[in-house]
Amino acid sequence: MNTNDINSIKSLLSSPKAIVIIPHKNPDGDAIGSTLGLYHYLKKRNHRATIIAPNDYPDFLKWMPDEASILKYDANTSQCDELITNAELIFTLDFNSLSRIGQLEEPVKMANGIKIMIDHHQQPDDYAKYTYSDVKMSSTCEMVYNFIAMLDDIDKIDSDIATCLYTGIMTDTGSFRFPSTTSATHHIIGNLIEKGARNSDIHNNIYDTNSYERLQLLGRALSNLKVIPEYRTAYITLSQEELNTFNFKKGDTEGFVNYGLSLKGIIFAAIFIENHQENIIKISLRSKGNFSVNQLSRSHFEGGGHTNAAGGKSDLSLSDTIDKFISILPQYKQDLKA
Ligand code: 5GP
Ligand code: MN
Repeated sequence: MNTNDINSIKSLLSSPKAIVIIPHKNPDGDAIGSTLGLYHYLKKRNHRATIIAPNDYPDFLKWMPDEASILKYDANTSQCDELITNAELIFTLDFNSLSRIGQLEEPVKMANGIKIMIDHHQQPDDYAKYTYSDVKMSSTCEMVYNFIAMLDDIDKIDSDIATCLYTGIMTDTGSFRFPSTTSATHHIIGNLIEKGARNSDIHNNIYDTNSYERLQLLGRALSNLKVIPEYRTAYITLSQEELNTFNFKKGDTEGFVNYGLSLKGIIFAAIFIENHQENIIKISLRSKGNFSVNQLSRSHFEGGGHTNAAGGKSDLSLSDTIDKFISILPQYKQDLKA
């Protein structure tokens, strides 16, 4: 973000404002962590801030400080519409296109408030007055930390802010192991622990709160795992019927896709999850090295994301989606063949 933009934002934030903060649909740890981290900071600066999420999120995120104050657009539409219309500033966090916020897209497009984007996804759209976009960043949480630093307010980071930002950096880096994790990331993590983030408790809250049924669902997912060695590819399917059998709840399949990538020699992993309610197959894609799942998803599955982690969808049946997936692999033989 350039100095002019930062100075403009500093002056905007110099008096109390009505502010709305928005994460992407189906928010993950980074989306909730970054919006809550920014929320606590703005509250501390005496702004009237509200987080409006497009929809609900998994229970394993429902312990973060003030998480209960987050409004869900699909459940509180008229209250949210009023807040959006009256907002002087609208922060949009952890997404690169207004198409990623579902039903919120129209009201946010129509809103007069000044928009500020903070995001690390590739190919950001140009809808915000101020855009802080950096695809090299591990997480939007790391960027919110930098944003607070650019505003000369590191000393305002308290244990609530630190806890939220730590959480999103941890989840988006796969616990500090993806290549996006830099020494700067670790320095920030160290600072956040000093400011009061209880790292071991945070890990426990996110990763060690499984239900028995979720572990059984993981067992099914792993027994459905298929490997295509000649393309160094592995994929998992879960049908709606299987999800129902294990009493699926939002977030239960989080991280399953990574198991494919943990196989020796595999550099491309996918999971296909049938969703009868939305009438789609939701797809998560992961890769190692230079193979861009962002590009593959943009070209074939109406999605996008990052080089090594992207999402998308398919309107075909589960089995037709798999056929399509297998049929496009030869297009990527240069990257995928051993
Ligand atoms: P996940 O597979 O965990 O849902 O998402 C992986 C990454 O891709 C995340 O950064 C997420 O924000 C992004 N992503 C997930 N689904 C979509 C999608 O449908 N479209 C786009 N553009 N990005 C997505
Ligand atoms: Mn993120």
